[in-house]
Amino acid sequence: MSMVSNIKLIDENGLRIDGRKFNELRPIKIEVGVLNRADGSAYIEWGGNKIIVAVYGPREAFPKHTQNPSRAIVNARYNMAAFSVDERKRPGPDRRAIEISKIIGEALESAIFVEQYPRTSIDVYIEVLQADAGTRIAGLTAASVALADAGIPMKDMIVGCASGKVDGNIVLDLNKEEDNYGQADVPLAIIPRTQEVVLLQMDGNLTREEFGQAIEMSKKAALFISNLQKEALLAKYSRPEEKEEVKEEEAEQENHGDDNHE
Ligand code: ADP
Repeated sequence: MSMVSNIKLIDENGLRIDGRKFNELRPIKIEVGVLNRADGSAYIEWGGNKIIVAVYGPREAFPKHTQNPSRAIVNARYNMAAFSVDERKRPGPDRRAIEISKIIGEALESAIFVEQYPRTSIDVYIEVLQADAGTRIAGLTAASVALADAGIPMKDMIVGCASGKVDGNIVLDLNKEEDNYGQADVPLAIIPRTQEVVLLQMDGNLTREEFGQAIEMSKKAALFISNLQKEALLAKYSRPEEKEEVKEEEAEQENHGDDNHE
């Protein structure tokens, strides 16, 4: 978030740099079950963001000392590919990725019924292939869908959106230019069923009133995106070949007990 800006982000017709209105989302597309070797997976395109998520587990936590005898542990790893941004990103975890992994893991943990799976881990790999601002929320939104695809019981699928301040206006779902040259960015994620807020951050400055406006805008958008998540899941499980695959998997599990597969 840069405080110096002489770039005009809102035009004379009140439209944003990519032609959107203040309360308009970027296009979002979600696909479920895109990876054969993961227990659950999802792919999301959200504006210029492209993110793939793989979920493994619940499986015996390893090394053993990480096991919690009363619940599952949730390991989330957020990673940006070297080619995901304009300048090559140095591979490997940096402070930002460690922070985002932590807050996404904590958010997911609050929705998953972790007490049903003692001594196990649920591993969530979030790979950002292309980044254009809003990746933590897009990654979390896709991660919830991947968890559902893995059949992991949850209160509901977590969903979110960011809002912020651009040229003095509160706007929904900032893109990269708006994030760079705007005045504030507030990512928010909720559990729709309970309305719990499970992720909330703020970069930049807002008045109390602006903050309230931003939250309201994001919550409304999140409920819309929640429907996209459900539609994506339904789309997978209504494909005839997937139904067959599910049946085959179930038959296989009955034959081999609970083989761990990776
Ligand atoms: P979020 O992606 O959740 O909005 P940030 O606000 O930290 O998280 O980042 C905003 C955007 O800045 C990212 O989506 C990405 O496009 C860009 N960005 C983040 N880290 C880097 C980096 N190391 N190099 C280049 N661009 C980056």
